[in-house]
This record gives sequence, C-alpha cells and structure tokens, in this order.
Amino acid sequence: MLDYHLHLWPHGHRDTAPTLDQVAAYCERAQAAGVTEIALTEHLFRFAQADRLLHGFWDDEPDAALRLSMKRYWEDHARADLDAYVDCVLAAKDAGLPVVLGLEVDYYRGRMDDVAALLAGYPFDVLLGSVHWLGTWRFDDLDDRVSLDGWRARHVDAAWSDYVAAIEELAATGTCDVLAHPDLVKVAGHRPDTPEECWDRLVEAAVSSGMAAELSSAGYRKPAAEAYPSPPLLERFVRRGVPLTTASDAHRLADVADRSADLSVQLSALGVVTLRAFRARRPHDVPCRAEVPLP
Ligand SMILES: [Zn+2]
Ligand SMILES: [Zn+2]
Repeated sequence: MLDYHLHLWPHGHRDTAPTLDQVAAYCERAQAAGVTEIALTEHLFRFAQADRLLHGFWDDEPDAALRLSMKRYWEDHARADLDAYVDCVLAAKDAGLPVVLGLEVDYYRGRMDDVAALLAGYPFDVLLGSVHWLGTWRFDDLDDRVSLDGWRARHVDAAWSDYVAAIEELAATGTCDVLAHPDLVKVAGHRPDTPEECWDRLVEAAVSSGMAAELSSAGYRKPAAEAYPSPPLLERFVRRGVPLTTASDAHRLADVADRSADLSVQLSALGVVTLRAFRARRPHDVPCRAEVPLP
C-alpha cells in the first residue's frame, strides 16, 4: 500500500520548519501499517511562494463575507518556505527513507499556467490536484461559520455540479498527476438524490486527462463517514482502468496510514492488485500488497 497524501501541519497551526525526524516518524508509522512508500504533499497555499503568485485571487468575489473569510484563511496559511520544505523531503530521500516529494495543488481558474511555471522549478515526484473551494467558498472547511453558511445558501445539486465542473477544468489543465479525494464535495454529508451523472463526469475527467485517482480514508474522519471516493464511484474508476493511489490525508502523525487495511480490503474486493506510484512525475505501478517473505 501507499500513503500518497500527507501533510506536516494541521490547519490552524502555525507551520514550523519541517525536520528529517518528522519525516522519519511518518515513514516509521506508515511502514508499521504495511505502507511501503509515502508522499509528502503539503498544500501549495501554505507557502510564501504561493502567496507571491496568487495573493488576492479572491478580490473579484462579490460576496463580502466570503471575500474576507478567504483573505483571512489565506493570510493565516501562506507563510512557510517552499524551498525549506523541498530541501527537507529531498534530504529524507537521500537518507534512504521511503518518501517521495509531492504537493497538493488547488485549482485557481485562469492561473494554472502560472502555478505550473512555479512548480516546474522544483523536483516534484507527484502533484495532487484538489478542489476545496468553489470560487472562494471553502465548502470543506467545516469549522468555519461562513463556509457552513454556504451550504445553507446553495442547493446540494448545484454545489455538486459546480464541484464537478471545477474538477473537469483542473484536470484539463494537465497541471497535476492525481485527482485527490475525488468526491470531496460530499464532505459535510450532503449528497444529491442521483449522483450518477456527477460520478460519470469525474471518471471521465480522470480518463481524458490521464490522471490517477486517490482512494482516501480521510472521509471516514468527516461527516461523509466513508472513503473518498464512494464505493460506486471507486468501482467506476476501476472499471474504466483509472490507476489508483491510496492515502490517509493525515495532517498529524497519529493519522498517518489511517485505515490502510480497510482501503486494501476495498481494493482487493474489486480485483485491484497494483497501485500507481510516481518518480519525477513519471508513473510506475507497484503491488498493492508488499510481498511477504516466506518463513
Ligand atoms: Zn485536500
Ligand atoms: Zn490534503
């Protein structure tokens, strides 16, 4: 198994300089759970380099509450140094730890060429593509009143449709390698009566862009109370031959490789025997389960 979606810092916590010891502890916990390789994938928006590129992307949001909420969230997060993060993960790789260098990248409409140009200056192994925000509405920020109000102000079908459209646009830019938590829009537990069309469009976005899709245990820790993607969507990905990664989306050591065994069971029930891994953004396949040496 893999854990290809890991953060060093919880939201709301001031970032500290990443250390080799922290990465080593993540690797140790992952390996104890049968995970053979991890990817560190901190949010792009935690870094000052993203702030210089994207600050004020919320300025044309007409809703003042959303605009201010996004501004505050952004300015609270975009402080760490991307170079220090990259150097730390590269040092961990050099030390022989089973880790690759990644990043979780949000969708910034009309700005992805700039984002890709920034990221091309770093030796990333894998880039996750995510939609956490629709415009400036942070639909998955369940601790924020303005974000929660957004769920009351919108029809569930419209939120899902806008989310899927954003994923389609992100995938079409070709900026990233893996579709992170593909049905994140269910995070708060709101689902349309007939999600099938949305599921089919998400699968098509992966197929047409060549992106892999992530099977993530993070949804179990949210009101959605199931993995991302839902079982019927996972089955659709598998049926269409979309390569998969597995992930915990941990923001702290205790959640590294969370429910990895449950994800493994889901995959074997669907006959999936390989996962997609990456080096220097080039894909290769690895077995779901590490070979167990004969006694
Ligand atoms: Zn995410
Ligand atoms: Zn994440």
